[in-house]
Amino acid sequence: MSTDPPSTEAAAPVRFREDVTVDLVKHSASDSDVLWAARVSTAGEQSLEELTKDPDRSKGLINFLIRDRHGSPFEHNSMTFFISAPIFVFREFMRHRAGWSYNEESGRYRELQPVFYLPGAERKLVQQGRPGKYEFVQGTDEQRQAALAVMAESYERSYAAYQEMLAAGVAREVARATLPVGLFSSMYATCNARSLMHFLGLRTQHELARIPSFPQREIEMVGEQMEAHWAKLMPLTHAAFNANGRVAP
Ligand SMILES: Cc1cc2nc3c(=O)[nH]c(=O)nc-3n(C[C@H](O)[C@H](O)[C@H](O)COP(=O)(O)OP(=O)(O)OC[C@H]3O[C@@H](n4cnc5c(N)ncnc54)[C@H](O)[C@@H]3O)c2cc1C
Repeated sequence: MSTDPPSTEAAAPVRFREDVTVDLVKHSASDSDVLWAARVSTAGEQSLEELTKDPDRSKGLINFLIRDRHGSPFEHNSMTFFISAPIFVFREFMRHRAGWSYNEESGRYRELQPVFYLPGAERKLVQQGRPGKYEFVQGTDEQRQAALAVMAESYERSYAAYQEMLAAGVAREVARATLPVGLFSSMYATCNARSLMHFLGLRTQHELARIPSFPQREIEMVGEQMEAHWAKLMPLTHAAFNANGRVAP
């Protein structure tokens, strides 16, 4: 019986990131998609020219739909994002079920790369108060240095353990159990404007939000980048979302 020899390839050096990235890789999404879907109820089928000939009317209709929570016209569009973020962000992200499709990189079929999350200088580190009523503050330099050093050391140790198991011939799907949730992963996430608005209402903090939410900062960083892409594609819908307290219709 023959077995594959252990890999002799040197492991990539451990890398640290403090950012997340969101690329808009595919889209079919515009304000006219909303008008087209909404106007079928009163005017039947209309051409794009007919639909968009009166900008004030378009703006007013979109605002009315969001204000009165007529949500389905915001579902006839699609945006696919490629997101690179730590696993703990994806764990929160995938709780959003309605109107979302996900495909994430596999830890069974490929060797996971040693890229780990460290909080950047802007990330407030210390929580004060009680759950449901707390705030985050910056923390001291000593706290920051201790956090960064402990996280980096733990990441390096766990990745060395992962490599040790792979070198001993253990399957990737078993060896990955040593890796922490600060490891970066990547996924495609596809949504529509309605499901994105629901996500943004919960996963961003915003002065215009009628119902405040208190998301973890790292998923909010993803949300902010998705929102910037979406606002360019559907400016009227985005403006109406803000004008109506950032509550999804
Ligand atoms: C600040 C914050 C803290 C959180 N803390 C925790 C936590 O401690 N523990 C935890 O487990 N989760 C936590 N969550 C996750 C939260 O409970 C939701 O799972 C997540 O926000 C997704 O929201 P959603 O279900 O409304 O979204 P989606 O799953 O996208 O659903 C969208 C909407 O569709 C409808 N819907 C979807 N599925 C059903 C269903 N099965 N039945 C009826 N209606 C449905 C609902 O109206 C829902 O609002 C937290 C979320 C936030 C924003």
